[in-house]
Amino acid sequence: MTKRATRSRPKRTSVKVRCAYCHDDLGQRDRRFCAGCMSAHHADCWEEHGMCSASGCEELEWVVPSERERKPRRAKKRRPKRHNATLARITNDANTALILGVVAVMACGLVGPFAIMKANTVTQTARQARLPVPGAATAGLVLGWIGTVGVLLGIGLMVLQLGMFATI
Ligand SMILES: [Zn+2]
Ligand SMILES: [Zn+2]
Repeated sequence: MTKRATRSRPKRTSVKVRCAYCHDDLGQRDRRFCAGCMSAHHADCWEEHGMCSASGCEELEWVVPSERERKPRRAKKRRPKRHNATLARITNDANTALILGVVAVMACGLVGPFAIMKANTVTQTARQARLPVPGAATAGLVLGWIGTVGVLLGIGLMVLQLGMFATI
């Protein structure tokens, strides 16, 4: 009997946590806990002092172990994962565009249009996901255009030469 009573008592009585800075009841106001020693503070008291006010503790980091503050943190953790998958795909496609662009310039200009198409797809996907467009995509686009223009110039020169031959 007595054991049960002593066990259940601490759970029922609400512990009054006091602010380490102003020594006032913490109550329902915004609270923060020192990341070093878990001393409770009012949020504004912490701001005023700039660090933990427990003696000997000069911790600058603080934590908020309330439910309200935890939920957005979980949501934030999920988002980067989705972004990472999209980012990986964008990076892959951007690299493909770059390789196609290099091939277009170095080997075969006919690959140019494919590099441009790939780079445009990457740019679109990145914009939809609100992610920065990778430099490789831009490079692929530019190289793709250079390759394509090179082919067009080559055809143009050939036509010119043929025309000159024809006039001679
Ligand atoms: Zn306070
Ligand atoms: Zn502290």
